[in-house]
Amino acid sequence: MIFRQLFDSGSSTYSYLLADDGSALLIDPVLEQADRDAALIGELGLKLLWTLETHVHADHITGASILKELLGNRIAVSAAANATGADRVLRDGDKIEFGNRFLEVRATPGHTAGCLTYVLDDQTVAFTGDCLLIRGCGRTDFQGGSAMQLYRSIREKIFTLPDDCLLYPGHDYRGLTATSVREEKSYNPRLGLPKTEAEFAHCMANLNLAYPKKIDVAVPANLSCGREARVERST
Ligand code: FE
Repeated sequence: MIFRQLFDSGSSTYSYLLADDGSALLIDPVLEQADRDAALIGELGLKLLWTLETHVHADHITGASILKELLGNRIAVSAAANATGADRVLRDGDKIEFGNRFLEVRATPGHTAGCLTYVLDDQTVAFTGDCLLIRGCGRTDFQGGSAMQLYRSIREKIFTLPDDCLLYPGHDYRGLTATSVREEKSYNPRLGLPKTEAEFAHCMANLNLAYPKKIDVAVPANLSCGREARVERST
């Protein structure tokens, strides 16, 4: 299996390329990196089957539609995202096949109402989006977010994976690239195992975060899977 972690420095976003037997998936592509990603996929001799979104992002525009134009892939997003322009909507328990492998879809709402975590078939790797970040988590004050839901998603859908399962987040702002279920259970300061739901909710209600800079542009664009951005880019 091919696995590549890709980075967009403008938004500190990670995208993930997975491939088996020549068939590829790309999780959370970034518009500004579409040419880079398309070139890499071509150089590796891969056919991009699907772009997948972990959620409707507020901090960058997805590269899903421009990649579809370049490579002919299809676009998959959460059913709960209520986005237009997708070829497939994903629900808890769905499987996305590539080559002889697959990702399992787990609904992990809380950062947004439509957040998904993708788990590799053998549960050695999971892609958590902004649900669980390294020693942190996504904010819960926009896009149908809920601290209670986020706490339960992480406890029930991520911390139930094997302790050695590697977790790859949607972002990191400190240069870290991956973590594990064991590490986050032990060291996540917001919702490691000692933390109660009430402690977590209190923490999330008192973060005093700034309004997201790109949210008013990025969310509407991502609700059409980046189609409007694709049109602007090509004219
Ligand atoms: Fe997010």
